[in-house]
Amino acid sequence: ELKKIQEILKTAQENNIQFIKIWFVDILGNLKSLAISHREFEYALTEGMGLDGSSIEGFARIYESDLVALPDLDTFTILPEELMGMPVARLFCDIKRPDGKQFEGDTRYILKKNLAEMKKAGFDQFMVGPELEFFYFKDDKNIEPLDKGGYYDSIPIDESHSLRRKTMIMLEKLGIRVEYAHHEVAPSQHEIDLRYDEALKMADNVITYKAVVKMMAEQHGCYATFMPKPMQGQNGSGMHVHQSLFKDGKNTFFDAKDEYYLSPTAKHYIAGVMENVKGIVAITNQWVNSYKRLVPGYEAPVYIAWGRKNRSTLIRIPQVKTGKPNATRIECRFPDPACNPYLAFSVMLAAGLDGIKRKLKLCDPVEDNIFKMTKEERKCHKIDNLPGYLFHAVDALKASDVTKRALGEHTFEKFIANKKVEWDQYRLRITDYEIEKYLPLL
Ligand code: GLN
Ligand code: MG
Ligand code: MG
Ligand code: MG
Repeated sequence: ELKKIQEILKTAQENNIQFIKIWFVDILGNLKSLAISHREFEYALTEGMGLDGSSIEGFARIYESDLVALPDLDTFTILPEELMGMPVARLFCDIKRPDGKQFEGDTRYILKKNLAEMKKAGFDQFMVGPELEFFYFKDDKNIEPLDKGGYYDSIPIDESHSLRRKTMIMLEKLGIRVEYAHHEVAPSQHEIDLRYDEALKMADNVITYKAVVKMMAEQHGCYATFMPKPMQGQNGSGMHVHQSLFKDGKNTFFDAKDEYYLSPTAKHYIAGVMENVKGIVAITNQWVNSYKRLVPGYEAPVYIAWGRKNRSTLIRIPQVKTGKPNATRIECRFPDPACNPYLAFSVMLAAGLDGIKRKLKLCDPVEDNIFKMTKEERKCHKIDNLPGYLFHAVDALKASDVTKRALGEHTFEKFIANKKVEWDQYRLRITDYEIEKYLPLL
């Protein structure tokens, strides 16, 4: 530790770093930051920084609001001058109590706890590869698109195209490996995919990615949003999450003899996600607006099913080049990028491990477009629906022991309380829809 701290201090000095930012998120995944001036570096890295948790969403109650942000030295990264206007470094941190005990509202800790459960279950690594989609708009008041591109369109002279390319280069500079990027289906909708990595590192990277996309957009005079469904009648933004479990450097999801190249472990995992999805979806899709994305006809899942080619399913099995066993994985298509990635990865893992533990039997795949099936056909395939509203998702969450265990009592309760407030605020609103439709009629 001491050696690591000395190294960081040296690097900071060599790079003329004026501030170190200490990053963490609240339970909803909003980025919070503390800036430490260079005189305090050594103290902050060794002892941590005091933090008043009372006004942070999902954190402490007033009478226990003193917390300590203790930097995770392995996450030290220099944020280039082009991004921040001056050389700045950042570290993610763990949130502790003043007596050194772990604080249960720290969602990064919650993910670590779930990864420890995974180790107990006999695996070494939870690999995840997220695909985050987002929109560029003129500003945060209007949904005015910057471009009129469509799926995989290449419009090199386009403003948003060059912005996206600069963003990719910036992510690489920050040590985040980008797999590829492309224009998405909706106008002004884009996607930058990250190369898969271990879940904790990836959750940190997702937070960094979202911050970088937003900062770069702002620098270019526009606004980037990860709102799940900003435009009516257009695709929403998802965060598909590719997942697999490794042991001894090998992918336990791979089985050369299976027609889908899926091992029994992978199948139990899928069955576990399907069995538990109603109780975890409030975490992976946490806003009122999230459920406006999960409707038929926009490549977002509505029904609880799995398949290989089928993009209307909850879980898809990407077909992998032969001879690439490590690439065998499942793709969960329901999460959206406005979730807290630490919690989203935690609950999907917990759901999958539950399936493995209980050796849940996987139902047959569905290869037909479910959006085109009648209700009777869906019934015959025993295809169930995801909750249609945040309200129902939170109800299902309350009943989910798997989620409760994965989040821990503190965060489970705080999350439910927070969502109750959100739902009530929404419920009381009289919308444009009602005025337009009812006022002239009734
Ligand atoms: N935007 C879609 C969603 O909401 C996904 C589209 C795609 O990646 N093909 O999940
Ligand atoms: Mg994609
Ligand atoms: Mg996509
Ligand atoms: Mg995908």
